[in-house]
Amino acid sequence: MTERTRLFAANWKMNLEAAQVDQYLARFTAGLRESASNGIELAFYPSAIWLERLLRELTQVSSAGRSIFIGGQDLHPESAGAHTGDLSGEQLVSAGCTSVLCGHSERRQDHGEDDQLVAAKTEAALRVGLLPVVCVGESLEQREGGQTKDVLQRQVSTILETVLRTTETQQLPPIVIAYEPIWAIGTGRTATPDLAQDAHAAIRELIRTAAGVEAARATRLLYGGSVKPGNCEELIAEEDVDGFLIGGASLDPDSFLDIISRCG
Ligand code: PEP
Repeated sequence: MTERTRLFAANWKMNLEAAQVDQYLARFTAGLRESASNGIELAFYPSAIWLERLLRELTQVSSAGRSIFIGGQDLHPESAGAHTGDLSGEQLVSAGCTSVLCGHSERRQDHGEDDQLVAAKTEAALRVGLLPVVCVGESLEQREGGQTKDVLQRQVSTILETVLRTTETQQLPPIVIAYEPIWAIGTGRTATPDLAQDAHAAIRELIRTAAGVEAARATRLLYGGSVKPGNCEELIAEEDVDGFLIGGASLDPDSFLDIISRCG
């Protein structure tokens, strides 16, 4: 039995308009009030323009046994300045956010984010006390070329080394790593439970090597890639899967609630 609190995170990406957000929140908060799931954590990453709405509505249904992180889908490594269109960790915190996504594969692809930049963003999140959910994962080409473990090693080690270098105690601060094989994101193709477990175990071993047994034991590893009510239970049954980062299925409040109640 794992002592890590399960985390179910919704990545809305560039979806939902004002009225849809209001409908979603009305349905989700009603469903969550009726839900028996307890001892879990939830997270929402909406478009930045909706953060205030989510902070207002979801804070009311957040409780000790079911706390809810709300955060940005990205942040700039600097705290302020001439970076049109970007958001800083300081701004997110001052708006009331508690978490942030770093290095989602869509940002790595669309905006050319490399491992160093993702590590700098992770560091910036930690600097202001945001819980970073850092995304890693291989492309289809890399998987088929047998490079998955090398890719994970490069991505995870860069983040851990950067974070540990700036931590005075040399202890890994709270950070969440989301394993998201790119070929499984938004494609309907989910990793098999064995394959997800294999990657998660490799990531946990990388954490152990870099930061020690306690950090490896405590750090939560999420799986992401076409998670839905029909496949979530077999994935969460794996020892090193501590929750999910969910795109498509999180856009429907009922299917997100369904996943939470099946796995929470
Ligand atoms: C994601 O956005 O991180 C994701 C995993 O998307 P989907 O669940 O739609 O595959």
